[in-house]
Amino acid sequence: MNEKLLLELKEKLEEQKASIEAELGKFAKKDDKLKGDWDTKFPKVNGGIGGQALEDAADQVEEYVNLLPVEHNMELRLQSINSALEEIKKGVYGKCEKCGKNIDEERLKVLPEARECGKCGK
Ligand SMILES: [Zn+2]
Repeated sequence: MNEKLLLELKEKLEEQKASIEAELGKFAKKDDKLKGDWDTKFPKVNGGIGGQALEDAADQVEEYVNLLPVEHNMELRLQSINSALEEIKKGVYGKCEKCGKNIDEERLKVLPEARECGKCGK
């Protein structure tokens, strides 16, 4: 792969990484103990009393439950992006994880974090 394209893809990956981290940061907290893991912040229920407080609490729990799969997806994408960046550093970027062949450059332009070639991947 030529240097110029590699640089372009690296920039793209770094941009995506930053934007996912920013998104995640809105509702999740980076887990310091586990590298690459994020925890959705459990909403703080403001200690009110009465029906309204309970209702608010229920809404927030529902929001939390809805956010979990979103967080998980973002986390997975972030992991692929990080692995791709790691591979660029090591100079082994752009190889298919399954068959070891070079991944099509056109495919990488669309999906720079792709780990599989067009034949092995979806
Ligand atoms: Zn393959």
